[in-house]
Amino acid sequence: MRQTIDVIRQWIAHQWTVLKPWMLRQWQRFVPWFLRQWSLFKAWVNRMWHLWTDRDNRWLSLPCTVAALLVLLVSVKSCQGIVYNFTPECKILKLGYPIDEASALAAALNHEQVDSLIARGEHDTIAYPIINERYYIAGNFDRYLAFHKADTTGAPLGDIVAAVNVGIDRDPQESAVPCDTTMDRLMLVNRYHYLDEHHKPRKLKEFKKIFRYEEQQAAPVVVEAFEAMQQDCKKQTGAQLMVNSAYRSYKQQIGTYKHNPKGYAARAGFSEHQTGFAIDVTSLQHPMRWPFDTSKEGIWMREHCHEYGFILRYPKDRGHIMNYSYEPWHLRYVGKAAARQMHDEGITFDEYYAYYIEPHAKTQRH
Ligand SMILES: [Zn+2]
Repeated sequence: MRQTIDVIRQWIAHQWTVLKPWMLRQWQRFVPWFLRQWSLFKAWVNRMWHLWTDRDNRWLSLPCTVAALLVLLVSVKSCQGIVYNFTPECKILKLGYPIDEASALAAALNHEQVDSLIARGEHDTIAYPIINERYYIAGNFDRYLAFHKADTTGAPLGDIVAAVNVGIDRDPQESAVPCDTTMDRLMLVNRYHYLDEHHKPRKLKEFKKIFRYEEQQAAPVVVEAFEAMQQDCKKQTGAQLMVNSAYRSYKQQIGTYKHNPKGYAARAGFSEHQTGFAIDVTSLQHPMRWPFDTSKEGIWMREHCHEYGFILRYPKDRGHIMNYSYEPWHLRYVGKAAARQMHDEGITFDEYYAYYIEPHAKTQRH
C-alpha cells in the first residue's frame, strides 16, 4: 500500500516538473499578447473619442464605429459557429437526425449517452420517439435502443420501454437483487427481486374457514380486503370466492417448486406468496383455475379487485413482453391507491414499481 502511494507521489511530482515550465511558457506568451490587444483597443477608443470631440470630423466617427461593430458581430458569430460544432446537438445532427430531433435528444441525454449515440454512427429511428414514450426513464436510454435492435417480434415502443424498465433485457441469474422489504405492501418480488429464507411477514391472520379449503394465512389487511371483496362478489354474481393458497414460507415454497418446477410455481425466495400479500383465488362453483378464468365471478374479480386494493398480478395482455404466464387466480394486495393507479394506467406491478417507486427512476422519469 505504502509503496503504491510512493509511486503515485513520484508520478505526480514528475508530471508537475513537465507541466510547470509549459504553463509558464503559455503564461509568458499570453501576457504580452493580451497587453498588445489592450493597448490597441485603448488607442482605438481614444481615436474615436477624438473624432467625436473634434466638431469638424464628428461625422467620421459614425461609419468607423459602425464598421467596428460589424467586425465585432462577425467575429462573435464565427466564434459561435466554431463552438456550435462541439455541441451535442451539432454532433447528433451530423448523424443525419432532423434538427428538431437533434435538439430534443441533446436536451434529453447526458454526455455519455450522446457519445454512445454517436458511436452507433447512424440515424437510429427510434432514438427520438423513445424519449417521448410515456414511461421513458432517462437512465435506460441505451438499453432501450439495444433491446429494440435485438427484438425480432416488432414489439411497439411502449412494450420495449416496459420490458427494459422491468429488466427483461437482463439475465435474472446475474442481476437479481434483494427485495426492498421496507416498501411493505409495495415490496416487489419477481425474478429480479428476491426474499431471503428468513423473511416472514410481521403479522399473519387466518382466513375464516368458509373462505378456504385448508388453513391459510396472509397479512391482516389482505384478509380484511378479501372478505370485503368476496361479500360484494357474492351479492353481484352469487358465487363464493375461495382462497386456495396465501402465505407460503420459504421452506414451503421449496416444496411447491419441487412439485411444479416448470409450471406456475416460482423458485423459493422468488415467490410473492412469501410476502403475505399474495393470494390464489378461485370459487366454490369453479374450483379449477381455468374454468374460473371465464366464469362470471372470475370476470367480476378481474374487473373489481382494484376497488379493494388488489391487482391481478399476471394479467393476460402483458405476459408476452413481461415474460410470464397469465394467472387469472393470483391476486396481489398493494392498497387501494396503487391498485387504482395501475388499473387506470393499464400497467403491471413490475412496471409501476420500476417507474414510480425505484429510487433511481424517480429522478430520471418524465
Ligand atoms: Zn399465486
